[in-house]
Amino acid sequence: MELRLNKFISHAKLTILIPCILLTFAKAMKTKTLKKNKVNVITLGCSKNLVDSEVLMGQLRGNNIDVAHESPDDDFNIVIVNTCGFIDKAKEESINTILDYAEAKREGTIDKLYVTGCLSQRYKDNLEEEIKEVDAYYGTRDLPALLKTFKADYKHELVGERLLTTPRHYAYVKISEGCNRTCAFCAIPIMRGKHISKPIEELVKEVSNLATNGVKEIMLIAQELTFYGLDIYKKRSLSTLLDALCAIDGIEWIRLHYAYPSQFPMDIIETMARQPKICNYLDIPLQHASDNVLKSMRRKISNQETRDIIKDIRSILPEIAIRTTMLVGFPGETRDDFKQLKDFVEEMRFERMGVFTYSHEEGTHGYKLEDNVPEEEKVQRANELMEIQQEISYDLNEAKIGKTFKVLFDKKEGENFIGRTEYDSPDVDNEVLIDATQQYISIGDFAQVKITDATDFDLFGELV
Ligand code: SF4
Repeated sequence: MELRLNKFISHAKLTILIPCILLTFAKAMKTKTLKKNKVNVITLGCSKNLVDSEVLMGQLRGNNIDVAHESPDDDFNIVIVNTCGFIDKAKEESINTILDYAEAKREGTIDKLYVTGCLSQRYKDNLEEEIKEVDAYYGTRDLPALLKTFKADYKHELVGERLLTTPRHYAYVKISEGCNRTCAFCAIPIMRGKHISKPIEELVKEVSNLATNGVKEIMLIAQELTFYGLDIYKKRSLSTLLDALCAIDGIEWIRLHYAYPSQFPMDIIETMARQPKICNYLDIPLQHASDNVLKSMRRKISNQETRDIIKDIRSILPEIAIRTTMLVGFPGETRDDFKQLKDFVEEMRFERMGVFTYSHEEGTHGYKLEDNVPEEEKVQRANELMEIQQEISYDLNEAKIGKTFKVLFDKKEGENFIGRTEYDSPDVDNEVLIDATQQYISIGDFAQVKITDATDFDLFGELV
């Protein structure tokens, strides 16, 4: 597993290490900072990793350990880097972050450095070999062991409680860990293990706590959302969970992320139609549309089956915003396969779409195939697909001008208050901007907004 990781470490070291070797000689004697113990947690990667950091910080705080998340100050002397190991770019970012803090430790500005998360789960032995400044490496399921390092105990009474890093009116809720699927391009099951659902009562307690603390919107996340319950209840139970969460006072919006298309359980859509608190929004990564590529990706679904699912979803919820993710450059993807994907995206007109380029990941089924699409061709295909999506998004946004939508306001930036409709998830989708020099709204409040203008990925409006 370590060949490709070395490439990142040796490259990063060249740019970071040489200058600090010189420094080290100068400061060899510096032993311990005089700072009082304070932990700074750094989170890389996805929202699931963010929830892990929030749980970790909740446990540290629960053990009276001073902790902050990505603190801009330098009053901390201990760093925990919660890494991502998903694809090359993410691995490189994780390694550079570790090396940055390894340098800080050599310089004597921090005393201790710990690494956890997916990269550490996947490459622990190699990292221990290569980056010795790290005091200890932990996997994705080693929270109790990590806490022990701080002479802290894992407090079961704190289950469902965490230190939020998001604005206090919304939060991510991870309903399960791991994945039983075997998609050929994906290393997540290697890092996160088999699927384990959280019991409904535990999630109801967690979301009730969040609502008590002012959370109004929750994003339900998992590696594979629709698999919920198949392990602990022996049947798909997402709808049952949704009904339970909709009964919690204070929660106004519930958003679904990371649904899996194969054998998609349509009862979820019926529950969405029945429950007004569930946003008219579904994130369902489809990855591709060519039967050849879907087959070699081991997605267990065909082009026609995909079309049928999208058609059925839209027939039950005509107003729904469907977010999807496509992957281009998978081994063996021909120009004709890519043409089929482009035609599919043009025809299906998804409201929201993201595109990834294939990353050749050790330990995945895809790694046995030849990574034969050149990198620049992968990037070219991704750009072509996003150009199509940009036009679709502009058309769909234009059609919203003159209409009024319920908007949740997240932040103020410059001269704008910025919010989202129920069709938009934080950080990945469109935003609604209103002129803060003319109108005022409190962050975390809902308000009716009439749309007055649109661009490809943003809407502009006024409070009504
Ligand atoms: S369902 Fe998602 S997390 Fe699971 S293997 Fe497939 S891509 Fe990876």
